[in-house]
Amino acid sequence: MTPKNFDTSRRSVVGGLATGLVAAVGSPAFAQQAAAPGAAGAAATASPLRNPATEYPRPPFAKQEQEWPGLAGRMDPRPDHGETSYKGSGRLAGRRALLTGGDSGIGRAAAIAFAREGADVAFNYLPAEEPDAREVVELIRAEGRKAVPLPGDIRDEAFCGRLVADAVRELGGLDILVNNAAKQHTVPRLADLTTEQFDQTFKTNVYAMFWITKAALPHLAAGASIINTSSVNAYDPSETLLDYAATKAAIMNFTKGLAKQLAKDGIRVNAVAPGPFWTPLQPSGGQPPEKLVEFGGDTPIGRPGQPAELAPVYVLLASQEASYVTGQVYGAVGGRGGP
Ligand code: NAD
Ligand code: MG
Repeated sequence: MTPKNFDTSRRSVVGGLATGLVAAVGSPAFAQQAAAPGAAGAAATASPLRNPATEYPRPPFAKQEQEWPGLAGRMDPRPDHGETSYKGSGRLAGRRALLTGGDSGIGRAAAIAFAREGADVAFNYLPAEEPDAREVVELIRAEGRKAVPLPGDIRDEAFCGRLVADAVRELGGLDILVNNAAKQHTVPRLADLTTEQFDQTFKTNVYAMFWITKAALPHLAAGASIINTSSVNAYDPSETLLDYAATKAAIMNFTKGLAKQLAKDGIRVNAVAPGPFWTPLQPSGGQPPEKLVEFGGDTPIGRPGQPAELAPVYVLLASQEASYVTGQVYGAVGGRGGP
C-alpha cells in the first residue's frame, strides 16, 4: 500500500466514522447531509449552529385551558412537532410502526419523523382528537407513506387487542411499537385523589401498555423495537401528580424487565423520560393554568421542550443503528436530572 493509498483509505474510514457518529447523535438534518458520500465535511458549514437556549418559545405563556384530552391545534403557541423542520434520511425505510397518542405532542412528532425516515405509520388516539389526527394523516401521506388512523379508547383491553390486529393487518406486519398515550391530571392533595382517577390513570398508562405490548409481541421479529414514554416523574415525582408519577415509574421498571426478557429474541425495549414538553397534555388538566404560564421556566435551559426536539430520540431507539441500546431510559429534561 502506497502512502497515498493509505491516506485515502484512512480518510474514508474517518469519514465513515463521522457519518456513523452523526447518525447516532440523531440530528436529522446533519444525518441527511452526511449520508451523501464525501459530504461529511460540507455538512458542518452547510448547517449553521443554532442556540437551543434561545430557540423556541419561552415562558411566560398566555394563560390557557382546554377540556381533556385537548388539541394541539388550540394551543397558544402551537407546539412544534417538526412539521416543517424534520428531515429524514431513510433510517426506517420499509418499517411498520404503531404509536399510541400519535395525534399530538410527542407521539405526533415521532409519527412525522418515522414517516420521513421511510416508515408506514398506524396510530391510535381518542375520537375527540380527530382534528389533530387528520393533520397527522395528511403529513404522513405527504411523505408517500401509508397512514393508518385507528381511533379508540385504550382503557379497554378488548380494544387494545383490536388496535394491534388492525395495525398488523393494515401495515402487513409490525416492527416498531411506541406506547406513548397517557393520562395526567393534577390533584394537589391525596385526600382529593379519587379511586376512579387512580384507576383511570393506571388503566391508560400502565395496563394499556401491558395489553398492547402483549398483543403485539407475537408479530414482532428479531430487530423489532419497543419504545415506552415514561417521564421525569418516574424518578423525581411531582407532589401533585402522585398517581401519574407512580405509573411513569412502573413504565420505566416494566421497560427494563421486558428488555431483559426479550434480549435473546433480538427485540429491544427502551423508554424515553421527558421533562416539561409543550403539548396538549398540560393545558387539559396536566398542570394548573397558573403554573402553565411559567411552564419549563425552572429548567436550566429556561423553557419547555418542543415535541420536535424529541423526535430524533424515538428514531434512534427505533433504528437498527441502536442495536446495543436496550433496557435504557433516555432523559430529556432541559439540563437537569436524569433517570
Ligand atoms: P399529548 O396530549 O399530545 O399526548 C397524549 C395522548 O394520549 C393524547 O393525544 C391521547 O391521544 C392519548 N390518550 C390519553 N388517554 C387515552 C385513552 N384513554 N385512549 C387512547 N388514547 C389516549 O401529550 P404528550 O405530552 O405528547 O404525551 C405523550 C407522552 O409523553 C405521555 O406518555 C406523557 O406522559 C409523556 N410525557 C409528557 C411530558 C410533557 O411535559 N408533555 C413530560 C413527561 C412525559
Ligand atoms: Mg392528543
